[in-house]
Amino acid sequence: MTPPAIVILGTGALATARCIQARYPGAQVHGLRGRVEADIDYTELAAHLCNLYAQGTPIVALCAAGIVIRCVAPLLADKGVEPPVLAVAEDGSAVVPLLGGLAGVNVMAREIAAALAVAPAITTSVELRFGACVLNPPEGYALASLTQGKRFVSDMLAGESTRIEGDAPWLDDVQLPRASTARLAIRVTPKAWDGGMDELVIHPRSVVAAVSGAGERIAEDVQTALRAHELAPLSLAALLAPSEQMGDAALAEAAHLLGVPLRFADAARDEIPEAANRSQADKRAAQRLLEAALRVPYATLQDDANVGVALALSRVPVDPDTVGQARGSLTVIGLGPGSAELMVPAARSALSEATDILGYETYVKMAGPLRADQHVHCTDNREEMQRARHAFELASTGRAVVVVSSGDPGVFAMAAAVLEALDTSGDPRWGAVALEIVPGVSAAMATAAQAGAPLGHDFCMLSLSDNLKPWSIIETRLRHAAQADLVMAFYNPISRARPWQLDKALDIVREYRAAETKVVLGRDIGRPGSSLRSTTLGELRSAEVDMRTMVIIGSSTTRGFTRGAQGEWVYTPRWYP
Ligand code: SAH
Repeated sequence: MTPPAIVILGTGALATARCIQARYPGAQVHGLRGRVEADIDYTELAAHLCNLYAQGTPIVALCAAGIVIRCVAPLLADKGVEPPVLAVAEDGSAVVPLLGGLAGVNVMAREIAAALAVAPAITTSVELRFGACVLNPPEGYALASLTQGKRFVSDMLAGESTRIEGDAPWLDDVQLPRASTARLAIRVTPKAWDGGMDELVIHPRSVVAAVSGAGERIAEDVQTALRAHELAPLSLAALLAPSEQMGDAALAEAAHLLGVPLRFADAARDEIPEAANRSQADKRAAQRLLEAALRVPYATLQDDANVGVALALSRVPVDPDTVGQARGSLTVIGLGPGSAELMVPAARSALSEATDILGYETYVKMAGPLRADQHVHCTDNREEMQRARHAFELASTGRAVVVVSSGDPGVFAMAAAVLEALDTSGDPRWGAVALEIVPGVSAAMATAAQAGAPLGHDFCMLSLSDNLKPWSIIETRLRHAAQADLVMAFYNPISRARPWQLDKALDIVREYRAAETKVVLGRDIGRPGSSLRSTTLGELRSAEVDMRTMVIIGSSTTRGFTRGAQGEWVYTPRWYP
């Protein structure tokens, strides 16, 4: 289950929030900015709750139930997602489940109430009568039909008894009225529901389907094979395919259509027996995959369906994580300059899905808070290639790896190192990793926005570091950029190991640009203690700049005007005189 977001409005709720947090590993406390320091801050309650709700994140809001209802009300008409939503009194004296009955809200209410030593305010009749929601089977099981389920439950509330066919260990302690001769039956079976109104059918996710190759009709073929055994599509736990097809988009699409995770395994080709035709051969190859990948006891199902799909049926639900391995992913993200609101949502979601996070320690800290189950691999800032290779090694074992950079990952940062590592490796396992690069707000953009719009016309970005390129190249580029009247953004302007380079660079620019040329200095933009200053090329001294500073040198048209007590707006007009 996704860990809940525990949302608070002030310090009064913090102690209760921390108590609830201790019950859910990975849960984070979200605090209203300016009112309370928590793990994650937000600025507007309604917008924040709506965002969480739309993403399907369980919400525990420590405020009045009415406030929570009003906040998420606009989203309630859409039945697409309905995560658990609970209101909890600030002082922990009341726990009120509001929404998400089928997503386990009452289970959460009981858990939280137990943690706070109070009674939950359960209002659902089935729960009150039987002590559990019959329509919300645990992970590994799926309800065949919600409509039928609701009808079945209302029959039971009207006083009918039931019998249980199959294994339903989670119902052992539930106070259902049972009778071996009852008309109503709860049936736990991988077989498809036949539409009978007397039964509540729950499917254990106990079937693994294997395919030996890629193709256009994978999902249909799997459904045909399931039908040949009268198995319900909801009994499917995973789709298994050969590792060499990891990058195949049709397989990913098929798994998506079937609503199951896609897993991979290897089987020795020479072990595959002779077959009469293509689909027979495929089916046998797929059977070898099942043998290689399944750790639980299972039965291989034989059928005459003319599709290259092999099915394995286990007696108990299959945890897909135990079948072969997943396709690993490597996502290179930019954190932006530092503050959470300047990180793009795609980077945030890559972080929350990551199993492993790699990067320079300062940046990994900026990416946090991370969950206890996420592995962090901190390295020295200079070991870029080594980090990139480590990331591929991890990802090729099926892990979800995120490499963090500050700003944008493609601007003097990790994305190029990651691509170079892949380009020069030739390892097919690395090539199979799902690689993605997520952009970020680069230091030049963040600094420019605070100053106004100094990059409003043509500009260039230059790193003044001669660690990875000869100084002569830097000089040539500076001269050409200065001559071309480009606005310049200097990254890595100075450091203890490179003390004279900035002065030299400024001397070159001064040969082409007037002393009055506007200069913007942004230090630690988006981070605590940030500072922004505008000055001129004539006045600028290298002592005012350090390695955490972005230096923007204006062009001949860059200008400024006062903005009240707060200094100056600097901009470069869109036109040329
Ligand atoms: N990938 C990063 C740049 C890394 S190079 C990005 O796109 O922003 C590191 C240089 O970026 C620093 O020496 C400094 O010049 C600049 N920089 C990075 N973060 C900054 C910040 N928050 N404020 C000002 N400059 C920053």
